[in-house]
Amino acid sequence: MIRFSNVSKAYHGATQPALQGLNFHLPVGSMTYLVGHSGAGKSTLLKLIMGMEKANAGNIWFNGHDITRLSKYEIPFLRRQIGMVHQDYRLLTDSVAENVALPLIIAGMNPKEAHTRALVALDRVGLRSKANYMPPQISGGEQQRVDIARAIVHKPQLLLADEPTGNLDGELSLGIFNLFEEFNRLGITVLIATHDINLIQQKPKPCLVLEQGYLRY
Ligand code: ADP
Repeated sequence: MIRFSNVSKAYHGATQPALQGLNFHLPVGSMTYLVGHSGAGKSTLLKLIMGMEKANAGNIWFNGHDITRLSKYEIPFLRRQIGMVHQDYRLLTDSVAENVALPLIIAGMNPKEAHTRALVALDRVGLRSKANYMPPQISGGEQQRVDIARAIVHKPQLLLADEPTGNLDGELSLGIFNLFEEFNRLGITVLIATHDINLIQQKPKPCLVLEQGYLRY
């Protein structure tokens, strides 16, 4: 699904590249952890896959298309294949269902159908009954689930997560990882950037290990 070939990324003005000469392959249907210390380059790697940052060198293949060559007009088509889960949930001050429906409405779906799809996504994360709540009325763990529902509402092929349990305690984190496993069982390819050593030990998966911008093999 994703192949990095000699990918490097240096931010403008930075003394050291954020990523250097990365080569790896994520097969369709895989679930992988992306681990490494703060500043190792995890977020940058996810941003390259999303087309939010551009590589300075190398090629990134997404289902056989080189996404380093996409024009800015083609990036939205790439993003429609991808769901992104964040550490800070960034929910809007609309109802839970409206938060989940928003990406579909932005993509041009009619609001009624988007709402129906949002309810299905909320059902998947166990929050159908809270569709009409406002974000402050639900817990932090539930807000993270809303963010996950929003990430999967457009049925992406690839689910990316950047420290998705960074603000949650152990048991809630395990529930979130269980959800990722469930989506993976449904065929979605999953890549999770995480520091959460406990969870990695409880649910071992293949790991990409970044150290100061290099992949450790
Ligand atoms: P991680 O997600 O593993 O904490 P990041 O990908 O955020 O790592 O950062 C990797 C390196 O790139 C760090 O040295 C960081 O300071 C630098 N960096 C990240 N974003 C930017 C940016 N927008 N401009 C300049 N340097 C950045």
